[in-house]
Amino acid sequence: MRKTILLLAMLVVAMATASAQEVICHRGYWDAEGSAQNSLRSLVKADSIGAWGSEFDVWMTADGKLVVNHDPSYGGVTIETAKWKQLKDMRLKNGERLPTLEAMLGCGKRLSTRLIIEMKPHQDKEHEHEAARKIVKMVKDKGLEARVEYITFSYSGMKHLKELAPAGTPVYYLNGELSPQSLAELDVAGIDYSIRVMREHPEWIDEAHSLGMKVNVWTVNSERDMEWCINYGVDFITTNAPELLQQKLKQW
Ligand code: MG
Repeated sequence: MRKTILLLAMLVVAMATASAQEVICHRGYWDAEGSAQNSLRSLVKADSIGAWGSEFDVWMTADGKLVVNHDPSYGGVTIETAKWKQLKDMRLKNGERLPTLEAMLGCGKRLSTRLIIEMKPHQDKEHEHEAARKIVKMVKDKGLEARVEYITFSYSGMKHLKELAPAGTPVYYLNGELSPQSLAELDVAGIDYSIRVMREHPEWIDEAHSLGMKVNVWTVNSERDMEWCINYGVDFITTNAPELLQQKLKQW
């Protein structure tokens, strides 16, 4: 009986101290009417359902324009080596123009969802470093420093974003091969790894937390994976199905 009471008490304490788990829309909330991946509309949609954050991907053209897109190329044009004039009239599936980072931040400024900027790993690392400088500067110029977090698969990019962004700006590493312990000395905010990697290394969740780091998991779309993440107490869940995840979190 005593043991049961003690266990119950521990459970109550654990529930009271557990921080809220937050929903991040992957490439915005694109699986919605009138939306498209990485569109301005997808950002507005993410905000409209009260998602904690909305993620989008950023590349830089050869002539220094920051462009929002997932793949290295759009419409057969490789963004990193193209001039902006080759891309500027291209349209997304929902009819919007291919957005620039400037347009995305301008849109985000009127909303309240957090802006999760993924800097894509560029082939030319000096070009990528320049992209990091420009992204951080643009965020500053738009007055959005307090609402932005950075994520990247690029190890050097992560280090550059850490150096360039104001102290305390969350920067997360995506690539999945490094334990939280091996990232600790870089003072990054935490790991942002795939559900596949995290299922292989569930121990990294407690390891990260004990180091004061956060854990984000992507791209969590099935109910089974959502439940796994919620049970393991990950801090952020990045998904293509944000409303389903919100429902699950409410019921939990
Ligand atoms: Mg992304």
